[in-house]
Amino acid sequence: MNSEKFSLKLVCPFDHSELNLHEDVLTCSKCQREYKISGRIPIMFDLNLLQEEERKKEEMEIFDNLSSYKDFMNRAYLKALKEDTLNSLLNFNLQDKDILEIGAGISLFAEKLSEKNHLVLTDINETLLKQNLQNCDLVVADAENLPFPDKSFDFICLVGVLHHLPHQAKGIKELKRVLKENGKIFISEPTRWSVNLIYYLGRKLFILLFGKEFVRKLVGCGTPDEAFLDTAELKKTFSVEFNIKVRKISPIRLLPVKFFDNISFVPKLNRFLEKLPLFRNIGAIAQITIEPKK
Ligand SMILES: [Zn+2]
Repeated sequence: MNSEKFSLKLVCPFDHSELNLHEDVLTCSKCQREYKISGRIPIMFDLNLLQEEERKKEEMEIFDNLSSYKDFMNRAYLKALKEDTLNSLLNFNLQDKDILEIGAGISLFAEKLSEKNHLVLTDINETLLKQNLQNCDLVVADAENLPFPDKSFDFICLVGVLHHLPHQAKGIKELKRVLKENGKIFISEPTRWSVNLIYYLGRKLFILLFGKEFVRKLVGCGTPDEAFLDTAELKKTFSVEFNIKVRKISPIRLLPVKFFDNISFVPKLNRFLEKLPLFRNIGAIAQITIEPKK
């Protein structure tokens, strides 16, 4: 589908067939599913399917409250992480590339990434996506069913996204599908063998004892039953043709409850501990780079 409205090529997220545009509705030439365009944002998922998946529905709705999202993103720990992540992204020296940021929310990186590149931002939540004002394409999409043709992007970035997916393996396969042959991927995710494991098990216990709603209020936002990155699936999908490099950062993080929102010594302590190999290796965040083997 190409029209005056988009410079972006979209396909049906379920069968990757051509779409026909008629009066702000895109219709799949094969399965006949319809995708409406809201303002300038195509809504590229099947709402009926999403309604059947409780967790995805939660992911869609949890950030509808913009102020709780902004409170969450402004926590001292996340702000420090943002800087570190942006620096890692800038190290790729991207120029004239087709870049995709998946699960971008209100993107922390779009301003820089869109300066010299064509940037596409996706998120499952339209409310958040609409807040992005940069010069880039916005598409509401489910990371497990991307509405892009095979080999569309030179660079894909996902920050704290994969562990939210109910079917990570599907999302990981989609990354490989839409990546160009010489493309690269940057992923930032919480790691399992770190302080996160304590939080994860604690969260499971609290959900069991007090219910999801209680945990959601305590944590501030995010689905309470998210998992960890599926590293085995990542290796299975990419390790034959790609090198996977892992860099761990942020050895400690505060319990993700509102009480700790503005404590700023943690980022400083992290910086110090990252210099010590033992602590670096139990970093709570992994920055993963996937690059083609030369
Ligand atoms: Zn279709």
